[in-house]
Amino acid sequence: MSERFCYRCGINESEGGPLIDGLCQVCYRKENPVLLVEGEVNTELCQNCGSYKRRGVWVDPKTYELEELIFEVAENALLEALEDSFNDKIREYEVVSPEELEEIDELPVGRAVVSFEPIDFHVEYFPAVITYNVRVKARIHELQRELHDERKHVTVYIRQTVCPRCSKFLGGYFEAILQVRAEDRPLGEEERKAIGELVEEKVDEIMQRDRMGFIQDTIEKEEGLDFYMGSTSSARKLAQAIKERFGGTINEAYELVGVDRQTSKEVYRTSVSIRIPKFRRGDIVADRRGNVYEVERVDGKGLSLRNLSTWESEHLDWKTAKREKVDTVEHEESEAMVTSLSPEEVQLMDMETYETYELERPPMGLSEGEVYRIVGVRGRKYFLEKKE
Ligand SMILES: [Zn+2]
Ligand SMILES: [Zn+2]
Repeated sequence: MSERFCYRCGINESEGGPLIDGLCQVCYRKENPVLLVEGEVNTELCQNCGSYKRRGVWVDPKTYELEELIFEVAENALLEALEDSFNDKIREYEVVSPEELEEIDELPVGRAVVSFEPIDFHVEYFPAVITYNVRVKARIHELQRELHDERKHVTVYIRQTVCPRCSKFLGGYFEAILQVRAEDRPLGEEERKAIGELVEEKVDEIMQRDRMGFIQDTIEKEEGLDFYMGSTSSARKLAQAIKERFGGTINEAYELVGVDRQTSKEVYRTSVSIRIPKFRRGDIVADRRGNVYEVERVDGKGLSLRNLSTWESEHLDWKTAKREKVDTVEHEESEAMVTSLSPEEVQLMDMETYETYELERPPMGLSEGEVYRIVGVRGRKYFLEKKE
């Protein structure tokens, strides 16, 4: 059998072989490089929110510390550029440290390992520039004696832009209005504060999955709060969260606001309204049988009431409360001093009018000379819990 020679460099197979496709080992690697990335890669990040494109989709960064963020964006762009330019025969790759890569001398066919490290950069102003030293080891043919081992300097330019979400946000865009109201009364100060906090906390959570879930604007109205939301689903989720905490009913309405010029589809704006119950802690209410209660607690499930005659507490779900016709009643609060106590009765003196009157002794600790809160409903008087 006659000796074969590399057609490129002429070395004989016994010295430079085994030949692959007529080439010696060295010429085969030279003719079939794996690291084909361009020396320059361009990428951008949003100057408003720090997000950047990963495989064409805007994503939020892992870090908001500017220098780390720039490296995160640059590395993402570098890896995408590497991946897109690898020799076709590379089917999978792994990123390792330069030290680990140094140690690798065997790989299955179709596999590459990559390391990169920044060797020169400035990140103090834009465009930020980072030059990486990239090294790849790979095997693309089973007859290869040695792995491909290629290096290249790749410079990544990071420019600033405004992502589509932020450009909508900065342009005042909103898709839905979330209206928070209370039934038959304006929203109270404490409720506004609690709802504001709940909404802020919930929006952070929503934004992790719905980038358009932002609050464009919050408007304080006499009757309640309006939140201008970037997405309808975010407005719905917030309404649900408020309902779970405070109870109430949710309604949606749609308003035609125009026609999209590009798609000629009609554009609607959604109003999601959540109306929380009118009851608040401390309210005096009565049911259809005339029992008088003080509201102890209100939540998404219902309300806790304390019967002012028996001093027993009960929890009513919203359905039951409605069936029992629980509603606020007119009442007058006053203060009275206990002037004498008997096992069944209490004698009191009104602190304003000095009138004296008697009440059935309630199941609470009373002492002579002390002043108590009294509430009068439909001509009857009841003790309220003593204020701390
Ligand atoms: Zn050769
Ligand atoms: Zn942005």
